[in-house]
Amino acid sequence: MAHRLRYFPVKLLALTFDDGPDPRITPTILKALQAFHAHATFFVLGRNARRFPNLVRAEAEAGHCVGSHSYSHPAYTNSRQAIQELDATQRAIADAAGAPPTLFRPPYGITRGQLAVTARRKGYAVITWTISSADTRPISPEQIAKNVIYTPNPGDIVLMHDGAGHRATAAAVPLILKALSARGWRFVTVPELLQAWAEWEAQPRNVRGSSSTRNRTIAHPR
Ligand code: ZN
Repeated sequence: MAHRLRYFPVKLLALTFDDGPDPRITPTILKALQAFHAHATFFVLGRNARRFPNLVRAEAEAGHCVGSHSYSHPAYTNSRQAIQELDATQRAIADAAGAPPTLFRPPYGITRGQLAVTARRKGYAVITWTISSADTRPISPEQIAKNVIYTPNPGDIVLMHDGAGHRATAAAVPLILKALSARGWRFVTVPELLQAWAEWEAQPRNVRGSSSTRNRTIAHPR
């Protein structure tokens, strides 16, 4: 994974949701995203994609990106298990959404484990995050929202969860979308963000400006 250290001026954020889909949480989030014309990225678990294929299909049909988060969320695997985890999830997503995933988020953000190594070898872009909403802690929707609203920089990738039980996250999403939309932010998928970033970097310096007042890091394929 390479880290880019450069100021990116476009007020784009990539909200990402791990561990879903879940029939009580994911539809609420999809509704909020739709209301604000926002796109997001769902890093689904293969086992949940198998149980709830309609939700994976709904994510894809609404223009969101569906990525892989492994099949059963192991921290560590051997190489044979890693291949099984990735391939079974790929099939589950392809069956539900009509296209295989190209992004992988390793469970627990472990980027040097066998799963992430194998995913890179298979051609996935391994994506972590630059802001955590801290929504795996027992905190209120308002606090989750505050963790995101308070801190964003252009190009941030925000870690959230739509697995079972994440009601506070589902309630936080409209708060985040409302507050940041009013301040001119737009919400895009991870591929849309990387595309916008690449296009900006490809511009000549005089168009882009030379401002480097802030350094940003972004998880980037390879
Ligand atoms: Zn996870």
